[in-house]
Amino acid sequence: MAEVNYNPFENAKAQFDKVADVLEMDEGLRELLREPMKELHFTIPVKMDDGTTKVFKAFRIKHNDARGPAKGGIRFHPHETADTVRALSMWMTWKCAVVDIPLGGGKGGVICDPHNLSLAEQERLCRGYVRQIYNQLGLYLDVPAPDVMTNGQHMLWMLDEYETIMGGRYPSMITGKPVGMGGSLGRTEATGYGVIYVLKDLLREKNIPVESTTASIQGFGNVAEYAARKYTELGGKVIAVSCWNQADGKAYTFKNELGCDIEQLCKIKDSFGSIDTDKAVQMGYELLEGDEWAKQDVDILIPAALENQITPKILPSISPKVKIICEAANGPTTPDCDALICESGITLLPDFLCNAGGVTCSYFEQVQCSMNYFWDKAEVLEKLEYCMTKAFRDVYKLSVEKNLYMRDAAYIIAVNKVANAVKLRGWV
Ligand code: NAD
Repeated sequence: MAEVNYNPFENAKAQFDKVADVLEMDEGLRELLREPMKELHFTIPVKMDDGTTKVFKAFRIKHNDARGPAKGGIRFHPHETADTVRALSMWMTWKCAVVDIPLGGGKGGVICDPHNLSLAEQERLCRGYVRQIYNQLGLYLDVPAPDVMTNGQHMLWMLDEYETIMGGRYPSMITGKPVGMGGSLGRTEATGYGVIYVLKDLLREKNIPVESTTASIQGFGNVAEYAARKYTELGGKVIAVSCWNQADGKAYTFKNELGCDIEQLCKIKDSFGSIDTDKAVQMGYELLEGDEWAKQDVDILIPAALENQITPKILPSISPKVKIICEAANGPTTPDCDALICESGITLLPDFLCNAGGVTCSYFEQVQCSMNYFWDKAEVLEKLEYCMTKAFRDVYKLSVEKNLYMRDAAYIIAVNKVANAVKLRGWV
């Protein structure tokens, strides 16, 4: 099969168009919702440690803020593109709507590889990002958060720069901050745990005990780690995890038929979610190259790394045993797979429902920062599970009642909510 270059924004628009047709959406509304409302493209000059200056390209894109201020992460990635950020900002709009939090969709990105930047250079890059667009950020405008290759420390540098410029303390302008510095307890776990709360609900509907299931996970970063932890805590067995190896530029799958020891693997991974291959082999893990994680004989596949990982090329090599694809990453499945997955009888938990735990907890962080009163972890996680379960039930109910693929059901609920907000505001 010929290699296809998937463009995430074209994918996001194709998914939206399908739902707009079902909803018989009028042209004006369709035109508004299929493009971002505002885009900032800018450059950030950074003084490097060796005295030279490097200029980084960056984006902040707001898809739609009819339901509330924009919300979405900032990703550092060498292959970042405006179209990836556009797609991610659009998915954020649907994500906030499906879990019914009063926020819109935004996303940011910087074309860079933090593997090659010292901590001091990363700090200057974060501060430079905020200096360029501080007047477009804030609790009532647009609230960033971490994403791929950014973390709480990056968020704190960004907050500090914002507060220095604004001359005050504005802790709710950014989320995903370290606990004790305006961060919410439970935020680190939120996305991965949220994935498993939804998976648990689906398994219950299917009368499948979690303890009887096995899973293979792509990625071992923030989302994958906490999804793996919660899933094993509930009794599931993770047979394989995978990650990117920066040293040789290859992806590896780490397999253990008896079940991966997540705690042990966490001890031998770096801050980018890459597992030390030599140490893993010494510990008895089988090392497989490439996308083997998707070909394992398991009940559940959890893509938790990047977009465009499940394609028509890989689909035929997925085991007939697989019953559920749990989209923990954003856009891991290409749209040309949806019909095939639907026909195959695999149940797909769509990304913007499945991984909405992160933004839901980020919303809790904004609320707590605004009150300057912080909840304990149990309270945060209880509220998180309530929101995720409610969103799952709404989507599942519609999918059963109307015999819809779960992605289509989630889209119908989310797009309807945003369309209503746009109409109520009198924009169309
Ligand atoms: P991360 O940077 O912490 O981890 C990414 C992981 O993917 C790493 O383990 C990396 O080694 C691995 N990876 C990269 N390329 C790979 C490849 N080709 N094959 C196998 N593994 C590969 O990122 P994260 O925060 O865990 O985010 C993962 C996904 O979840 C992204 O799609 C992100 O947009 C999405 N997401 C994250 C959050 C959040 O709160 N962090 C919230 C919602 C959605």
